[in-house]
Amino acid sequence: MSKRRRRTKKKPRHQARSKAFAQGAPAPQANSDSPEPIRFCLMAKPIGPACNLRCQYCFYLEKEALLDRGDHRMSDEVLEAYVRKYIESQPGREPVAFHWQGGEPTLIGLDFYRKAVELQRRYARGRAFTNTIQTNGVLLDDEWGRFLSKGSWMVGLSLDGPKEIHDAYRLDPQGHGSFDAVMRGLDVLKRHRVEFNVLASVTPTSTPQPLEVYNFLKQAGVEFVQFMPIVERLPDQAAEELGLQLAVGVRSGEDVQTVRMTPWSVEPEAYGMFLCRIFDQWVRHDVGSFTVMNFEWALANYMGRPAGVCQWMPRCGRSPIIEHNGDVYACDHYMYPEYRLGNIVTDDLQEMMQSPAQRRFGDAKLDALPKYCRQCPVGPACWGECPKRRFCRTPDGEPGLNYLCAGYKRFFEHAAPYFHAITKLMQAGHPASKIMETEIAVVPSGFMKLH
Ligand code: SF4
Ligand code: SF4
Repeated sequence: MSKRRRRTKKKPRHQARSKAFAQGAPAPQANSDSPEPIRFCLMAKPIGPACNLRCQYCFYLEKEALLDRGDHRMSDEVLEAYVRKYIESQPGREPVAFHWQGGEPTLIGLDFYRKAVELQRRYARGRAFTNTIQTNGVLLDDEWGRFLSKGSWMVGLSLDGPKEIHDAYRLDPQGHGSFDAVMRGLDVLKRHRVEFNVLASVTPTSTPQPLEVYNFLKQAGVEFVQFMPIVERLPDQAAEELGLQLAVGVRSGEDVQTVRMTPWSVEPEAYGMFLCRIFDQWVRHDVGSFTVMNFEWALANYMGRPAGVCQWMPRCGRSPIIEHNGDVYACDHYMYPEYRLGNIVTDDLQEMMQSPAQRRFGDAKLDALPKYCRQCPVGPACWGECPKRRFCRTPDGEPGLNYLCAGYKRFFEHAAPYFHAITKLMQAGHPASKIMETEIAVVPSGFMKLH
């Protein structure tokens, strides 16, 4: 499918997975009781939530209220402990993947990353490592371009679509749109041949214009995109007690009584339609030449492989974050005091990751899944999605249903016949792109019923 993915002839296993799912049986990547070290992906926030933009929908800016005062720069001591312990903690010989995010991680300056790479070389002792940075692109210049290109960094650029869509929410501190500055950053990446992908947030401004967003990104020279739905609630009592402006992530088993959405949240059905319209365009014209990660992940689930994104996997718990001060938290979406696992300087990473608290956090995603999801035909693709968004009730009144449920059902059911056909084509030795010449008999059917 993706130019970055090898073809496989692996047989789909959906019926078996679907049954296991409905019974709540152990999922494929279950946390085991074994003391063996586990692999995980620790994302760093070297400058905390500090940012040079004020995107209206950002969920991390306000985390400032939970941190100590100061400039939130990662110190040399924390950086060295992070690099050394992270490399030492990763079992196997696969490259160790470093991810840098914010806030805006370029704000800490290039010298910080030069130092990080020096430490990576020193502690990797010949083992390969990779670096990914998620940026708004505003500070990228030729010096950054040369550094990123020379070190083969992968850059994630936040760009929501054409100017009027991007500038609806992605504002600078003076309230001006950031589109022009981001496009200059994109130009730096292209000129220096830096590998990059785009993270496009989906808002109520973009959902009515799916093809405008899609065609714009293609014309801008983007080849890889991930669409991220914006879903945030106005503060609940827990948020107010912490001094936050957005509701905190749903706790396992919590029965959310009052739901008040922010105006920048997508409507579930509209988000589903947005994905379907883009999927129709992609599956007819762009398979193999333009990669939409949401489709890649869904297809992987369909083919019985791990989706590769935590939201569409059965369990959480393998995507912790490390803040600038060395504190490690369960997940980017659960950076609250009760989800703090320890500190990189004083604590052992594997112990933090295999602690009862982190195991409970990871398992809760599957354990707390409502019956409605366990019986859902597209369940083994969706897995109830991110627990942070499970603040709705099922039609029979059970709490814990994901807010985006209607949208996901629509999308997964819409794409299933095509995924089925792509799977068959690949099993027959054809490239996935042959789907573009194939007639599909679209029957209204669930994700799993096709096999
Ligand atoms: S809480 Fe959401 S973002 Fe965090 S690991 Fe789970 S699915 Fe992923
Ligand atoms: S589509 Fe809806 S019912 Fe099905 S698993 Fe996802 S959230 Fe649950």
